[in-house]
This record gives sequence, C-alpha cells and structure tokens, in this order.
Amino acid sequence: EIRAEGIGKTFGKFEALKGVSLTIARGEFLTLLGPSGSGKTTFLMILAGFEKPTVGRLTRDGTDITTLSAEERAFGMVFQGYALFPHMTVEQNIAFPLHIRKVPGDEIRRRVGEMVARVGLSGHGHKLPAKLSGGQQQRVALARALVFEPPVLLLDEPFSALDKNMRNSMQDEVKRLHEELGTTFIFVTHDQSEAMALSSHVAIFNQGQLLQVGTPQEVYEKPTNRFVSEFLGDIN
Ligand code: ATP
Repeated sequence: EIRAEGIGKTFGKFEALKGVSLTIARGEFLTLLGPSGSGKTTFLMILAGFEKPTVGRLTRDGTDITTLSAEERAFGMVFQGYALFPHMTVEQNIAFPLHIRKVPGDEIRRRVGEMVARVGLSGHGHKLPAKLSGGQQQRVALARALVFEPPVLLLDEPFSALDKNMRNSMQDEVKRLHEELGTTFIFVTHDQSEAMALSSHVAIFNQGQLLQVGTPQEVYEKPTNRFVSEFLGDIN
C-alpha cells in the first residue's frame, strides 16, 4: 500500500499540487486523470522519487519513503521520454535492469525470454528498436520496466504518440499484463475513456487538487463536484 498525505509542490510561487492525500492499495490499477497542467505528472514524479514534495509525506507499507531516491524506490517506469537504448537489441534492452542488479546470466536469459513472450515479441528479440513499430517499442519498454518485478509500475501517457488502433491494442496489452502480474499500476492520462477502460480506480485532478477518487463507475455515476461531472461528461 502506498499512502500520500498532504502532498504539496510549489515551483517558485506556483502551486502545482495542493494537499493531495491518497491511498493506493496493492494490486490496484489507479489512473491519475485530469486536464493538461492539473498536476498529474508532478504527482507521478513525486511517487517515482524524481521530485521531492514541498510538504507532505509518502509511505509504502507503513515505511516512510518521502526522502528515498528513485533508485532506492526501484519502481518500474514507462514514460514518454524514457526511450529504449537504440544501440541495444530488444533482448539487451529488457536485460539491462537485471544486469544492473547483478542477476546471474542464466536467470537473465530465462527472465528475458519469458518477458519477450509475455509481451508478444517472440521472434523479435534480436532486432534493434529502430526496426520495430511504435507499439512494439512500447512493448519492449513495458517488458524492460517489469522484468525486475517491481512492486509498482508507473506509466505516464505511454500511448499518446500512437495512432488509434495501436493505442487500443496497447491498452488491451497493459490491462492483460496488470491482470496476469497483479503489480500495482499507476497510470497518467488526460483521456477520460482510456481511464475508464483500464482502471480499477481513478483519481481526478484539476488545478493541483485531487477532486475525487473512486472506481470508474463511482466517479462517473456519483461525481462529487461539478468539474468532475463535466470533465467525465466529455467522454465520447
Ligand atoms: P500534462 O497532461 O500537460 O502533462 P499535468 O497534469 O501532468 O499536465 P504537470 O506536468 O504536473 O501537469 O504540471 C502542473 C503545472 O506545474 C503546470 O502548470 C506546469 O507548468 C508546472 N510545472 C511542472 N513542472 C514544473 C517545473 N519543473 N518548473 C516549473 N513549473 C512546473
């Protein structure tokens, strides 16, 4: 379980996050949903350990992780700008987090083979990323982020650059991986229908505030304020 208590973040005089409190149960698929500039990415960066909150506290299973670095937290990440290593093959990219952790070679081969198959890239293991489609590259990024069995996977608008068909198939892929692995997934998007389709829980942000958290059905059927009802009413 991850618990955020009263998280605030200011950049200069600008308050990007204001008093955000939220509990994320193990195995949840939580989507941070809100318009551009609402603070979703800032909150994800704080969860990842790349940004420190100005005020507030983060715990994981009761242990304070507020001051732990991103390396110490060791969450899996699939971010827009978090590119694959272009000079490494698919298998080498996926193996990278295991080499860093000094996992023995035969276990690396076993786990990489398993992940390649799991994300549907059998037969592509020896290719360079440039030889793959955008969707296939995102599959490699997912495999690389999950191969070391992180407790939490953070995804920031991972499919925003893909066309609609590719995006739909990657949504299915992420949903299936979540169901198979049971890892906690925390996903950022400004796309309401993507959030509703994927998530077990949705956290709706606007102007740095967390307005409502609930299952997709709860927030859709029982919005607690006007912004939430209008924002979700835009689903088409
Ligand atoms: P988007 O969907 O556009 O990424 P978002 O909801 O993720 O939006 P954030 O990226 O968290 O929003 O940004 C929230 C606000 O904080 C924005 O107004 C942004 O300009 C500001 N902000 C974010 N990072 C910084 C920074 N390093 N320095 C100054 N301002 C920042």
